[in-house]
Amino acid sequence: MKKIQMVDLKGQYEKIKDTVDAAIQQVLDTTSYINGPAVHAFQANLEAYLGAKHVIPCANGTDALQIAMMGLDLQPGDEVITADFTFAATVEVIALLKLTPVLVDVDADTFNISIEAIKKAITPKTKAIVPVHLFGQAADMDAIMTIAREHDLYVIEDNAQAIGANYQYPHGMKQKVGTIGHVASTSFFPSKNLGCYGDGGAIFTNDDELAHKLRGIVNHGMYVRYHHDVVGVNSRLDSVQAAVLDTKLPKLDEYCQARRAAATKYSEAFANHPNIITPRIVGDTDSHVFHQYTLRIQNADRDGLMQHLLDKGIPCAIYYPIALHAQKAYADARYKEEDFPVTNQLCKEVISLPMHTELEDDQIEFITSSVLEYLS
Ligand SMILES: *Cc1c(COP(=O)(O)O)cnc(C)c1O
Repeated sequence: MKKIQMVDLKGQYEKIKDTVDAAIQQVLDTTSYINGPAVHAFQANLEAYLGAKHVIPCANGTDALQIAMMGLDLQPGDEVITADFTFAATVEVIALLKLTPVLVDVDADTFNISIEAIKKAITPKTKAIVPVHLFGQAADMDAIMTIAREHDLYVIEDNAQAIGANYQYPHGMKQKVGTIGHVASTSFFPSKNLGCYGDGGAIFTNDDELAHKLRGIVNHGMYVRYHHDVVGVNSRLDSVQAAVLDTKLPKLDEYCQARRAAATKYSEAFANHPNIITPRIVGDTDSHVFHQYTLRIQNADRDGLMQHLLDKGIPCAIYYPIALHAQKAYADARYKEEDFPVTNQLCKEVISLPMHTELEDDQIEFITSSVLEYLS
């Protein structure tokens, strides 16, 4: 059996080495390192793949979120509702822009922002909702967009973990996540589902005016060279990373499928186990792209299980060990522990198993039997 990796970047690279190396070489040959043809090609191809009118590449997923919020002209003190159970980048940029983060509880089944909790958190100062499609499962966008319409709020999708997932509306129609809200962000961090070989990110929107504004913000607020109309940032996807991404994009659906196939094997092995809750897929199978495969361990020693797996050479991780409302940087006197029953419980129960495109059957079998051995 090959050594098990949490994310197998090497194994994936080896299968596409020739095309990726040639694409990188082409950038080197043209020396067009910034805003080169590779960036424009990738942008157009990603727009076509997503069915999004505009993709604005930028330096990373955290910048993408920040720039999206800057583009919406949110003002200091405006309240922005987001999930208490996610990677800190989401709340970080809200705080950085002097907006007021309002963390709310999540749904135990999907790990995604709770619709009821959003409704309860809305005040006259609320200006936006930031759903995160956590671990690759599309959030309940129909309900979120309905709330947003009723209260005149912006929806910014944090799509760092779910690129390629199809949200399925209650009536059955499907739409790629990241194209449903007013604007969305994604990350091309190497371990993300569409990862480059360094840092990268992008903003998506179907709004022409907003797209124009965002293109200026990523480039020092310039719309005409050396005319700075708004305060911007410097946030670019470089051509080498774009070339890598453009060679990987045609494989994204296949990669999502490989992740789902591994998830299915895991879930079959753990089905009906009294101590294990396997991830739930809401909608058709393509509504989940399994950025992470995360179990909930109940009435058993989660940390002991983690140590048992690590001792056997099986990498695993706790995403996320501490709820955001409990982090020093994001504590707020308005939060009460009773407001976060689900995130508090999830932080104690979750464990994420190895998940990537190169998992082999004997590895999955070893991982599942090792989990079951500990919990038996
Ligand atoms: C990875 C991630 C980000 C940040 O992306 P970077 O490219 O690392 O800046 C933001 N939000 C979520 C949910 C993420 O998983």
